[in-house]
Amino acid sequence: MLALLLARRRVRVTLLEMHHDFDREFRGDTVHPSTLEILDQIGLAERVHELRNSKISGPTLQTTRGPFTPFDLRRLKTKYPYILMVHQKDLLALLTEEAKKYPYFQLLMGANVTDLIREDGAVRGVRYQTDDGVHELRALLTVGADGRFSRVRHLAGIDPVRTSPPMDVLWFRLPHLNEDIDAPGGAFGGFARGHIVGGFDRRDYWQAAFVIAKGSYPSLRAEGIEGLRRHIVQIEPRLAKHVESLADWQQVSLLSVESSCCLQWYLPGLLLIGDAAHAMSPVGGLGINYAIQDAVVAANLLTVPILDGYVTIDHLKAVQRKRQWPVRIIQALQTQLQKRVIATALRAEEQQGLSIPWFVRAFTRIPLLRDIPPRIMALGVVRVRVKN
Ligand SMILES: Cc1cc2nc3c(=O)[nH]c(=O)nc-3n(C[C@H](O)[C@H](O)[C@H](O)COP(=O)(O)OP(=O)(O)OC[C@H]3O[C@@H](n4cnc5c(N)ncnc54)[C@H](O)[C@@H]3O)c2cc1C
Repeated sequence: MLALLLARRRVRVTLLEMHHDFDREFRGDTVHPSTLEILDQIGLAERVHELRNSKISGPTLQTTRGPFTPFDLRRLKTKYPYILMVHQKDLLALLTEEAKKYPYFQLLMGANVTDLIREDGAVRGVRYQTDDGVHELRALLTVGADGRFSRVRHLAGIDPVRTSPPMDVLWFRLPHLNEDIDAPGGAFGGFARGHIVGGFDRRDYWQAAFVIAKGSYPSLRAEGIEGLRRHIVQIEPRLAKHVESLADWQQVSLLSVESSCCLQWYLPGLLLIGDAAHAMSPVGGLGINYAIQDAVVAANLLTVPILDGYVTIDHLKAVQRKRQWPVRIIQALQTQLQKRVIATALRAEEQQGLSIPWFVRAFTRIPLLRDIPPRIMALGVVRVRVKN
């Protein structure tokens, strides 16, 4: 997104991606209203809606006292009152196709950043490895947008302050069947006996997630794949036939959940954004949307200095200053949800239904208050707009 926004404003950008395609690791499918508004501002909202998608405006949870809808995005004042579920590889293909229309943009796939070029106390580019050897790329500004295990961050010697999310996620596909489960809003979910299962409709198949307590993967794996099948069906009996397709652990990816924030997001000539600056846990499906907001703010604040050929530490500091507090607020909310809801669910030893405390039910009935959390989640702590 940052490369596209800069190229639109005539900044020469080279985007390095270590993989040969975008379909390598799961990084989230939830395109929130905040991101849809940003895509609308740059004329891409219609095209993103043409990608294979499903829409979620408010999940319904099955609880001990009947169905419960914790939030409803349809009440928000936005052109896009829903979360658009789009396969991330399709979204990235759309953004890079759009960026390629600008002569200032270059995409290098299979280009793995291995080192920073440092001169006179500043970062002046990167060294990267491709199939045909090591190359150098010099730049006025290097941006590390390389995710939660950021190599650029490590090379820069910046250490993130880590919080410890209580969970990891197993990620796998389940087939659609003739007699399929009914999932309002295209998603299902539930928990029992220390595990959480959830999934959403990717039209050709169900994309499923099985949330486990951090570090518990080896013991689960020791139970064999039939153990995983059994746990899933205990939570969601309607998946009994679907899980028969899980025959091997190779069909299941373990996604390690990280959450952290760097105290400083920059060095002379270098800026970190997205998960590289603040790794987001999957709670609320916020990470890609916060990474995109970082990209918009960075483009807004840095385009003119880059075009002038003079990017100072103060310019980079301004990006962190603007983004850091919305990130901190949202990470604090994620931590509370992890501690109070997810950790509790992962500790539950008995088969038990989801019980919602009375004050939460009461809160969701108060018109003035009930839309505050979904508003923050869907539109961001502050609304970010693209400067043209
Ligand atoms: C299990 C799990 C589930 C999640 N679910 C969701 C969700 O549903 N919705 C949501 O919004 N967020 C979700 N998140 C969070 C989300 O994945 C991140 O916050 C988001 O992807 C951050 O975007 P990013 O661009 O900063 O980094 P990434 O999306 O991680 O992208 C980094 C890119 O850099 C590339 N790269 C890495 N190292 C190098 C290198 N050395 N050289 C060149 N390229 C490199 C990678 O290949 C990758 O393409 C989830 C996170 C986890 C762990």
